[in-house]
Amino acid sequence: MPSAAYEAFISRVKEISTARAIESVLEWDQETYMPPRGAEPRAAQLALIAGVAHQRLTDEALGRALAAVEREADPDPVVATNVREMRRLYDRAVKLPTELVQEIARTVALAKTAWVRARKENRFADFAPHLERVLELKRTVAEKIGYTTEPYDALMDEFEPGARAADVQRTFDELKRQLVPLVRAIRDAPRQPNPQLLTRPAPVAAQAAFGRRVAADMGFDFEAGRLDVSVHPFCSGTSPLDVRLTTRYDENYLPASLFGIMHETGHGLYEQGLDPAHAGTPMGTSVSLGIHESQSRLWENLVGRSRSFWAHYFPLLQAEFPAFADVSLEDWTFAINTVRPSYIRVEADEVTYNLHILLRFDLERQLVDGRLRVQEVPEAWNESFQGLLGLTPRTDTEGCLQDIHWSMGILGYFPTYALGNLYAAQFFRAARRALPDLEQRIARGELRPLREWLRENIHRHGQRYRAHELVQRVTGEALSPTPFFEYLRDKYQPLYGF
Ligand code: ZN
Repeated sequence: MPSAAYEAFISRVKEISTARAIESVLEWDQETYMPPRGAEPRAAQLALIAGVAHQRLTDEALGRALAAVEREADPDPVVATNVREMRRLYDRAVKLPTELVQEIARTVALAKTAWVRARKENRFADFAPHLERVLELKRTVAEKIGYTTEPYDALMDEFEPGARAADVQRTFDELKRQLVPLVRAIRDAPRQPNPQLLTRPAPVAAQAAFGRRVAADMGFDFEAGRLDVSVHPFCSGTSPLDVRLTTRYDENYLPASLFGIMHETGHGLYEQGLDPAHAGTPMGTSVSLGIHESQSRLWENLVGRSRSFWAHYFPLLQAEFPAFADVSLEDWTFAINTVRPSYIRVEADEVTYNLHILLRFDLERQLVDGRLRVQEVPEAWNESFQGLLGLTPRTDTEGCLQDIHWSMGILGYFPTYALGNLYAAQFFRAARRALPDLEQRIARGELRPLREWLRENIHRHGQRYRAHELVQRVTGEALSPTPFFEYLRDKYQPLYGF
């Protein structure tokens, strides 16, 4: 029986997440259906609701309610989880003075505008002073929040609670040792795919219907979610009962929408799989960005780019898209697994993608602790890029100016993308162990057993376990790059014949 103090505490917690959910719906609408002239009133609506959420989170009354529940020291795991995670959020929020938060908002607004122009004109020097200022402020944030080893940890903690840069570095170093030779072997392999065939015409309406069918087969509940169109695809979850996915369609490139939908549906299944009984509290919230990304990558790559998956779906695709009627299953599977070092992260394949992340993690960690100076970024970027991918960006626009993150003051976020890939491979390996006929079932179009396994082992636990504990519990091993590397090797060796 929950105590009165706990109930009072939880009702405050739920108010904060209700405000956040309102914010999310407004943002979703802004990206999908809002008419252009709605931008101005929408900005006012968003500012107000974000202010309400922040005010509730930093309210001293919440601090007192939290302290009261902490004094009761209830060992119940649900209570303990909610208290632990709210303490983390509350402390992070109250440690940052309002003036600092406002100064960051002003700085990143200018930095973003400067970045857009600098990227367009290929002039890193114009963006450099803004990045300098952003770094200064983020270092202050790290000092206010506190850390044990290095300031980067305090920044990364916002996205991957409990992760330490030094541990991530060790994992990434090991990954790099395995990955760089694999990329070379694929590049020099005798057999190469024909990605050109993927550009055959595919009517948008048919793409939408096919994508929805796959999402539904994966177990996405369209009574508790939607799929719409936006410029930048995303998944926004306000409750397990209302999850919004978006995608974009390209008439001459079917894979963009298809794998995009599988990716966002992976995120969406996580949101729908959270326990509704704990909605609005940490027990009903996803663990971290890395774990979230593991769910999207697992479905997009480990399932969606597998031969088993297409054994069932390729004949269905051919029936809907006559342009692919003369393509063999082998050529299709090979084409969707094209690996080619390229400059732009968001266009990278699953093999080279993590190398893009390793580079960013290394540079931003050095920038935060001052080992690397801002004006040295272009050179450091290009040198590292050459070492990792065997290419040197011809311009900063296709090099260090390509991502929006730093201009928005988002540092410590990049590693979560790569962690997601590593977690995905570990989880998938564990799922195959637990469900020995998993591949055969996928090959018959039965995707539900995998969703059930993910729900049971990952989704329904909310934030009960931190990412590293969850991985240990679910897979019996700590975070490791090896399952990911072995997955790649076992798939790409036979495909490319090396
Ligand atoms: Zn994602």
